[in-house]
Amino acid sequence: MTQLVEAEGLVHIYKTAELEVVALQGLDLHLEPAETIAIAGRSGSGKTTLMNILAGVERPSAGRVQVGGHDLTRMDGSEQEEYRRRVVGYLWQHAQVNLWPELTALENVQVPMLAGAGGHRGPAAQSRRLLEALGLGSRLSHRPDRLSGGENQRLAMAIALANGPQLLLADEPTAELDGATCRGLLADLAQLLRELNAGAIMVTHDRQLERYVDRVIQIRDGRTATETRYVEHASGHLVADELVIMDRAGRLQIPRHHLEELGLRDRVRIRREGEGLRILPLDAGADA
Ligand code: ADP
Ligand code: MG
Repeated sequence: MTQLVEAEGLVHIYKTAELEVVALQGLDLHLEPAETIAIAGRSGSGKTTLMNILAGVERPSAGRVQVGGHDLTRMDGSEQEEYRRRVVGYLWQHAQVNLWPELTALENVQVPMLAGAGGHRGPAAQSRRLLEALGLGSRLSHRPDRLSGGENQRLAMAIALANGPQLLLADEPTAELDGATCRGLLADLAQLLRELNAGAIMVTHDRQLERYVDRVIQIRDGRTATETRYVEHASGHLVADELVIMDRAGRLQIPRHHLEELGLRDRVRIRREGEGLRILPLDAGADA
């Protein structure tokens, strides 16, 4: 089975008149079909850049990336259009950007369906089904200005999923919502993604989101740094299993708190120890 997302060594550089910003510096990311992940990381770490590349909006400066069998580094205009229409659904950060203010909720979801080729059969029925699954069954004929913030965000999700994409991309989908609204929405979305057998990548600052996805990837300085899976403990609690990601060349990003606590910088000693390796500060001395 081919992977849904395969990104290796992604580099992205923004060039402006006076400087170059390296937003991604050798990022690796892999997703299985129908897998859902959250991406976390500080502001400026390259999350939105990655999403724009995966959405087919931005082309990477270097590296390999394919989604659903499409090589995103060499798509021409018409393949790019087809890719954005059929393969990915993109939920922009601010719900309003995704919506047609003059149209009802039902019509909003029909727009991308009608734009797709050959969608003559029952877009209304399909559109209604999506909205019902997202809890908007009683809001079909409401326009966006008559819906709450959370309802608009649900509508935006239905629009992003209208054409049955293999991958949903959502940049901070819950940033503007309060805790309870956010949990309800994520639970419904997770359920719908399972039914549609679709994968998702969601950027988040929100630890609540993490229990609704298969894995959480942490990006640091334009690279994937750590990965956390939540494993259900016998007691019913979720227990975090945090792994550091190593790229093909053997490079690791050691979590910052370890670097600081142990004074690791510039050069370190590596010792083979039984089944593992030990990383020591340079001044740890020969007897360490
Ligand atoms: P995040 O979404 O994690 O906050 P971004 O991907 O938006 O990070 O940005 C990563 C880096 O690239 C930041 O240093 C940001 O200032 C820079 N950047 C983002 N977009 C542009 C742009 N259009 N032109 C120049 N620099 C940009
Ligand atoms: Mg961002």
